[in-house]
Amino acid sequence: MIKSCYIHIPFCDTICSYCDFCKVYKIDKWIDLYLDNLEKEIKSNPVKDPLETIYIGGGTPSCLSPSQLERLLKIIDTLPKKEIIEYTIEGNFESTTKEKLLLYKKYGINRLSFGIETTNNELLKKINRVSNKEEIRKLLEEAKKIGLNNINIDMIYGIPNETINDIKNDLDFILSLQPTHISAYSLIFEKHTILTINKEKPVPEELELEMINKINQVLKENQYEHYEISNYAKANYQSKHNKTYWKNEEYYAYGLGASSYIDDKREKTTRSLTKYLNGIITKETEVLSKKDKIVYEIILNLRTKEGISLEKFYEKYQVELKKIYNYQELINNNFLIVENDQLSIPEDKWYISNEIIVKVLEGEINE
Ligand code: SF4
Repeated sequence: MIKSCYIHIPFCDTICSYCDFCKVYKIDKWIDLYLDNLEKEIKSNPVKDPLETIYIGGGTPSCLSPSQLERLLKIIDTLPKKEIIEYTIEGNFESTTKEKLLLYKKYGINRLSFGIETTNNELLKKINRVSNKEEIRKLLEEAKKIGLNNINIDMIYGIPNETINDIKNDLDFILSLQPTHISAYSLIFEKHTILTINKEKPVPEELELEMINKINQVLKENQYEHYEISNYAKANYQSKHNKTYWKNEEYYAYGLGASSYIDDKREKTTRSLTKYLNGIITKETEVLSKKDKIVYEIILNLRTKEGISLEKFYEKYQVELKKIYNYQELINNNFLIVENDQLSIPEDKWYISNEIIVKVLEGEINE
């Protein structure tokens, strides 16, 4: 049974200088045409199982007008649902209004995800974003009055010229909003982004590590559990939808550039807006072998505090993980731990998790 569905809305009011997501400037007539084609895409590959989690991501879904948003929410409302446990929409504070919050509530959305990224105005300029603390505070008060209490805030660390003091200020402000969930991402210099083209310099590695440690320490002191490399939650507020990905479970996905995982196939929809708006919704398919699935299982599970359940791994693949990968030396050197049958990377090594995962995969036993 597939219980999760992702819907991608690629439109944004402004383009951030670090962004390599699938996004475009918003143009009203494109949005209307996009929704026509999204509806067609959903009808031609329908959701078959009752959903428990839905995630509308982007882009900036909140930049749609109220009538466009209502149309989107009505399309999603036709999907088969069980009891929806988590229904999230992403957005920014600038384009979210009380009218839109009321619409969210009306259609059953119960989780909001907003990007703040940083509170330093100079750094905001560098990443081409704006922010106003008082407006953010007012909007969240409005959301909570309406009953939308489950709120994630995204922050970014490692912006060129950022200092440890900037991180402390961001954390102070974000904590004052009392979100249930915080995602903290390290700034990545992706190819073809304005930051990279402008030859901006990343912060030194030692400073980045100091920032990670500060975030971990402050959020832990404030009772947020660090349950995934970039994610922290109050008790009972871990993201159920995102855990579908990290547990390597299957999910539906619709919209430009969206990737689904159904019946052992990962399918990626075209990133060409022209094609999509013309109803040419092509998909690249990766059919997964048992070994591919195991590799995904390792890469995704090891991002989390829980790690890999060795027992569940055996039930799923009918083979013991240690019989196909030799990772004992990583355990001996404390890069991996086994506790209660769970294999995981200790939190103090998460900043080098990619290197550790590569080492695990290099330990493949070829008989
Ligand atoms: S709002 Fe999000 S998707 Fe849009 S440009 Fe910025 S980072 Fe990219």
